[in-house]
Amino acid sequence: MLNVDLHCHSTVSDGVLAPAAVAKYAHKAGVNVWALTDHDEVGGVAAARVAAGELGMHFVSGVEISITWANHTVHIVGLQIDADNPGLVQGLADTRSGRDARGREMADQLARAGIPGAYEGALKFVDNPDLMSRTHFARYLVESGVCANIPEVFRKYLVEGKPGYVPHRWASLTQAVGWIRGAGGIPVIAHPGRYKLGMVGQGALFDEFKQLGGTAIEVVTGSHTPDQYHLYAEEARRYGFLASRGTDFHAPGESRVDFAALPPLPSSVKPVWHDWF
Ligand code: AMP
Ligand code: MN
Ligand code: MN
Ligand code: MN
Repeated sequence: MLNVDLHCHSTVSDGVLAPAAVAKYAHKAGVNVWALTDHDEVGGVAAARVAAGELGMHFVSGVEISITWANHTVHIVGLQIDADNPGLVQGLADTRSGRDARGREMADQLARAGIPGAYEGALKFVDNPDLMSRTHFARYLVESGVCANIPEVFRKYLVEGKPGYVPHRWASLTQAVGWIRGAGGIPVIAHPGRYKLGMVGQGALFDEFKQLGGTAIEVVTGSHTPDQYHLYAEEARRYGFLASRGTDFHAPGESRVDFAALPPLPSSVKPVWHDWF
């Protein structure tokens, strides 16, 4: 039976396991088709491919690109990319630049809110110096006792209107889809249920994505509620998108669902992997 997970993070972005360890963890949970999709970075793809091969898992090279669309941060996953494609590699490097300065600003804000030392604190959780993320700050706020857990951090800090939120201009939708397609990959809108776009905004995003050559959306993801699995299965059918599935794994025990708990895609949608084997 196919157990496909096309959305996972390693220490190359904001996960806590190295690429090979994520491969092992996924394999142990029964995954047999697996993609590593670190944020704005393909530095883990080579190691992940080797580890997956040793475990007999079908490997899919991936990435999750941060974009700004209509003043919202949206994530676009690229699957089956050539991770050495110069346009993609340069685009990702440009997207990563500015994360460190943003981290310092986030820390300044947190200091003004009475939480000192957040830059250094977050840095202890960072493995890839190019990829300081809000997740690293969230782990520090939990470690230092400011919040009890990660979801609490993202309710009280680091999000719009709360201390530690620094608006950031990421890549454009056109760029991200262009880099992915230029690298021979499949563009996928990650966890569409997480964006607060409203129905009209979401429709506009889907239309524009489709026009640019986007072909799939995530339907079953650790970032969706079970209700949203069905909602986005319907949206996929309505727009003619293929459907993807992935845990959005970051760390054992940290994600909303673990590998074993994620249900299969509803049978009403066409999987993004329908013609891969
Ligand atoms: P950044 O790319 O630095 O803005 O960080 C975004 C990352 O923060 C996401 O990829 C998630 O790993 C994490 N994140 C954002 N919102 C939440 C949330 N509500 N709960 C848990 N993690 C979140
Ligand atoms: Mn993340
Ligand atoms: Mn994401
Ligand atoms: Mn993700």
